[in-house]
Amino acid sequence: MAGARFVSELRSRDPGVPVTVFGAETQRPYNRVLLSNVLAGMTRPDHISLVDAAWYASHGVDARLGVEVVRVDREARAVHASDGTVTRYGTLVLATGSTAFVPPMPGLEDGLPGGALVFRTLDDCRRISELAESAKSAVVVGGGLLGIEAARGLMGRGLEVTVLHLAGHLMERQLDPAAGKVLARTLASLGIGTRVQANVAGLRTTGTGDDRTVTGVELALPDGGREILDTDLVILSCGVRPEVSLARDAGLAIGRAVVVDDELRSVTDPSVRAIGECSEHRDEVYGLVAPAWEQATVLAGLLAGTDPAARFTGARQITRLKAAGIELASMGETHFGDDDDGVEVVRFSDMARGTYKKAVIRDGRLIGAILLGETSAAGTLTQLYDRASPLPSERLDLLFPGLGGAPEAASPVRMPDAATVCNCNNVSKGQIRACWQDGARTADEVSRRTRAGTGCGSCRDALEGIVSWLDEQESVDA
Ligand SMILES: Cc1cc2nc3c(=O)[nH]c(=O)nc-3n(C[C@H](O)[C@H](O)[C@H](O)COP(=O)(O)OP(=O)(O)OC[C@H]3O[C@@H](n4cnc5c(N)ncnc54)[C@H](O)[C@@H]3O)c2cc1C
Repeated sequence: MAGARFVSELRSRDPGVPVTVFGAETQRPYNRVLLSNVLAGMTRPDHISLVDAAWYASHGVDARLGVEVVRVDREARAVHASDGTVTRYGTLVLATGSTAFVPPMPGLEDGLPGGALVFRTLDDCRRISELAESAKSAVVVGGGLLGIEAARGLMGRGLEVTVLHLAGHLMERQLDPAAGKVLARTLASLGIGTRVQANVAGLRTTGTGDDRTVTGVELALPDGGREILDTDLVILSCGVRPEVSLARDAGLAIGRAVVVDDELRSVTDPSVRAIGECSEHRDEVYGLVAPAWEQATVLAGLLAGTDPAARFTGARQITRLKAAGIELASMGETHFGDDDDGVEVVRFSDMARGTYKKAVIRDGRLIGAILLGETSAAGTLTQLYDRASPLPSERLDLLFPGLGGAPEAASPVRMPDAATVCNCNNVSKGQIRACWQDGARTADEVSRRTRAGTGCGSCRDALEGIVSWLDEQESVDA
């Protein structure tokens, strides 16, 4: 996703510079974020492409899809590819993303047995969908964002689904324990079982060699015993690892990923840049698309020479779950509690209705928030968090806009112009309004021009709400 955005941004700034793109996957770049919707049957695989079929040819980009780069020769400034070609470069941009982590455990020593899959690519998604047709049940190992989205998708396909999670609560990186509990209850109400502190010791399989297939998951119990969960489909969702093998073999500095400076340059070799999940910037490795796309834009401005002062200085991380029937947004530092010094915590919990809201404030600024079950305040909270803006004195308004007496700001229509509507592409309400005033009269047209709604898609309703409100205003004024 970072590479595709970079190429399109570079071309829009510089129509002439020779560009070659290598992509190990055979299909054109696609919106990986929407794979969960594809698995859930809500979006067709052919609708998530990021690049039109004719785009590369019409823009003079040499695209080698289905061709993997196998070696980088920094001395000769050339890449060696799986098709035997050697291509010289002036600048090499690494956007190799991540690969799904497969934990070393019994049953997985010789690779993934039949019926056990990771969930990272469109091919994974297709295989999971095929197997889901005949499977009776599924076990998802890992209760992070992706594991839960996969579980929701499989449940929607009629499977009995259980999520096994090693930590004490679900999505522990984004949620506090109380929110994790509410989420588990919400999942239960949808028919998805969850078990936390579940220590998966291995996979049970039958058959030998290439015919090995999964029959169950083995859990190590606290008393030293074992429990077997029978299942014919296992999704391993145990996190990702930046794909840095090329960079490592080429002798570039690697921390958790390729270490880069604010110009996305490898600290070892300035002719190599790294963006997206394979890059490490100021000790941070991002796992979300918004920072990847921001890096792509910064780099395009630098390499085209149109914005030589552009720098990537870091990005805030805002996570939204895309699973039918579960509204969830989380940002920043959410783990503080009432006993922590120097922070103010505002919280509302209604376990029975699956609602949990929390705002964490330090020095009058929002440093973290969770909205679960009801996310209408997400746009405003995102803006307050993203810009570290001063907060309303009535804290209740943060979680329940309008309730504390301040004018309601949560509805997209009443949001201030500075509020971020599309977080993936960093598009504000003001930019949408300006685009509409510039003649874009449908949500699709605004989306095409501003890119709002083209990432995870969770702002699509807000975008449509704003556009139809602007249309209404116009007819009232007329
Ligand atoms: C199911 C799912 C749901 C997600 N949901 C969200 C979400 O809601 N919000 C969000 O912000 N993020 C989400 N993400 C994460 C998001 O997709 C990533 O952050 C984003 O794709 C990162 O972009 P990237 O370009 O760094 O990596 P990728 O999109 O993974 O692209 C890297 C590409 O490089 C190719 N490659 C690797 N090595 C080579 C080589 N040697 N030669 C040639 N090609 C190579 C790979 O095959 C791959 O196609 C989700 C991810 C998944 C899997």
